[in-house]
Amino acid sequence: MKVMTVLGEIAPEEMGVTQLHEHILANADYSHNDFNFVMDEVDVALEEIKYFRQAGGQTMFDLSCTGLGQDVRGLKMIAAATGVQIVTATGFYRECSYPDYVRRETAEQLAQRMINDYRHGIDGTDIKPGILAEIATEYGVGSMSPEEEKVFTAVAYAQRETGLPVSTHCWAGELAFEQIAVLTRNGVPPGKIIIGHLGVDPEVKDRIFKIAETGVFLGIDCIGYAYEAWVKMKDPAKAVFVRELIQAGFLHQITISQDLIRKLYLKHYHGIGYDYLLRHFVPMLETAGVTPAEIDTLLRGNPQALFA
Ligand SMILES: [Zn+2]
Repeated sequence: MKVMTVLGEIAPEEMGVTQLHEHILANADYSHNDFNFVMDEVDVALEEIKYFRQAGGQTMFDLSCTGLGQDVRGLKMIAAATGVQIVTATGFYRECSYPDYVRRETAEQLAQRMINDYRHGIDGTDIKPGILAEIATEYGVGSMSPEEEKVFTAVAYAQRETGLPVSTHCWAGELAFEQIAVLTRNGVPPGKIIIGHLGVDPEVKDRIFKIAETGVFLGIDCIGYAYEAWVKMKDPAKAVFVRELIQAGFLHQITISQDLIRKLYLKHYHGIGYDYLLRHFVPMLETAGVTPAEIDTLLRGNPQALFA
């Protein structure tokens, strides 16, 4: 299938070096009450995306959807000005960010909203999504809520209709099997699912290997989050974990991304920037023993395979 960017369709082989889980323009302040989580400056974002381009980056997925401060008009300007191919999302994030209509509507009605975005464009524009994301469950609560299950069911209906891949928020893989169960029993192939936030906690490696056995893509993200206590697996350990997953036979399911969603991680605010993965994490992979051909699969092959 084609890949829908904010500037129109491209072939999967045109994606090149791709980061599948990022946020370019976003607002996650609803839950954190923190200026740091508001990334709404188009002019700043435009300069930041240039650094990604200069480091060899070609395609970036902004998973900021409904409830996460999505700005598709801004993304279109940035894509046009930088030459980076930007893909935007349709979907719903954490339950605390759901608009009121999510509670009122059925899974079929919610699916229709995503399908309408796909057919006609998002937010009154003709800009269409290339992925269903960032579909979330909460961490530390033990089960999926009924509203979350309804949203995952709606996403599955929309996936079947559109063929778009699904990318989730699943901290440390805690409810991964529940997410996968709702999606697959409603017809989503495992090869169209990325379970996000799996490289964050060294205590749960066994769980991640079991998730890999289901055939889904593994989102190894939060790369560059050196100072966040809640990201317990730091980057050198993350690079070793990637090598372990490869040794276990899961090379073709691993995706790597930064998930940059803090103002203070932007270079403009003296942070690491979107080029950190290519400039600093790739060398860590090499040190960990991941070969150049395997790194190429992570950066280019696997994102492309998601659209096979
Ligand atoms: Zn994210």
